[in-house]
Amino acid sequence: MNAAAPLRQEAHLGAYDGLRAQVREAAARGAAIFVSGGGGMGESVPEGAVRVDTRCIADVIDHARADMTVTVQAGLTAAALAQRLRPTGQQLALDIPRPATTTIGAIVALSLGGSRRLGCGGVRDQLLGVRVINADGELIRGGGRVVKNVAGYDLCKLYAQSRGWLGVIVEATFRLAALPEQAGAVVIPASDAEAAERLCADVLRGDTRPTSLDVLSAAAARAIFAHTAGVAVGAAPLVVVAGFAGSAAAVRWQISELAPEARSAVSADRSGGGRRIASAVLDGASYERFCADIADLAYFPGRAGRGAEDGPGRVVLRAVAASDRVTRIMTDLAPICADGPTLAHIANGVIAAHVRAERCRDAADVVERAGGWWQFARAADAAAAGMALLGPPREDWGLMLGVKAALDERGVFGRGGAWDRAIRAGA
Ligand SMILES: Cc1cc2nc3c(=O)[nH]c(=O)nc-3n(C[C@H](O)[C@H](O)[C@H](O)COP(=O)(O)OP(=O)(O)OC[C@H]3O[C@@H](n4cnc5c(N)ncnc54)[C@H](O)[C@@H]3O)c2cc1C
Repeated sequence: MNAAAPLRQEAHLGAYDGLRAQVREAAARGAAIFVSGGGGMGESVPEGAVRVDTRCIADVIDHARADMTVTVQAGLTAAALAQRLRPTGQQLALDIPRPATTTIGAIVALSLGGSRRLGCGGVRDQLLGVRVINADGELIRGGGRVVKNVAGYDLCKLYAQSRGWLGVIVEATFRLAALPEQAGAVVIPASDAEAAERLCADVLRGDTRPTSLDVLSAAAARAIFAHTAGVAVGAAPLVVVAGFAGSAAAVRWQISELAPEARSAVSADRSGGGRRIASAVLDGASYERFCADIADLAYFPGRAGRGAEDGPGRVVLRAVAASDRVTRIMTDLAPICADGPTLAHIANGVIAAHVRAERCRDAADVVERAGGWWQFARAADAAAAGMALLGPPREDWGLMLGVKAALDERGVFGRGGAWDRAIRAGA
């Protein structure tokens, strides 16, 4: 880790003594350790393993407003952090599912994010440093609290998507973004996969700089826009949503710039049983709601934003594919998902499909045939589908095991869990 920067004996570090003792005691008697933030996205804890709950550490350690960075403890929820930052005009620009219960630790450990990744970057881009309890119960640090700090390898990034497998994250430092003066989005129905793909390519090639670019299946669009005034997506099989944020003038200009593309997409499409489909513009509040709903829908079964689990028997399969294959995969998934929503973030090629547990294997086959890769974000979904947490083995799993051996020599974190088993079996 950061050998050049000895740990300062900061007063608040005593807050981690209880967790450190728990880790030391469990490791000393050879028990496996599973880290939890209470968000329900983690793994089942095997018999005899110790569950370390981080919700006891939930403070903001340091908000450097001028530098636009914040250091927070891992048990703080995303919603609590957003509430603390909002009056200062700053934000952690990540779209987090279930922010009321999802903690900073889970955000880092699962590398959570959503639509605005296109314009704002993901966890790895925004994470500047971490403080972690290792298997010896020691506090170690990676990265720092300032934006320009890194000399050599930036080890803190290893903890992004580490799934509690490398240690207990107790603090994270993030780069912040200014809350935009204005935000908005254009909603454009598309008649088929080719039209949606063309539209996305045009938007990405054009003069506008979208903050987000998503494609929704008809079921996802119905779930998301059911209560949004002025949006009628009609019978379109796919709906493209391009979002913008920034100064009021820039957002207005970009939305007007995109309007001709939206109009031509509409005029080119007279299908859908004769029902004309129309594009629409979302205001800032509706766009914010859209990003929150999409984040929920991308990780949790159930109707977006309403908290109700109205997708009984469904799980969320997440796929990654080249951007130009995304809309085709969504089309091929449609009969398998039936009325289950499917959505995609075009920027990073991530597709989230709500599939009945018994059809998951068919959905995974569609993704694999298209050269994509899949996984379950939540261990509970993999368990319900009776499938491995991760899809076909990847070349970098051997490297991951090397990192694991270097940072957790005895392999205490997550031992015997779904993630540990999947990586070891596939590497
Ligand atoms: C199939 C199944 C059966 C279950 N059965 C039971 C049961 O019978 N009884 C019971 O009490 N619970 C049960 N659980 C829940 C289980 O205890 C939790 O999933 C587990 O404790 C992880 O917590 P979480 O889901 O709240 O993690 P989340 O807070 O949602 O975290 C998500 C991921 O991030 C990691 N993470 C979070 N914070 C940190 C951090 N600070 N540092 C490093 N990594 C972090 C977690 O390890 C996890 O991998 C079950 C779960 C599953 C999937």
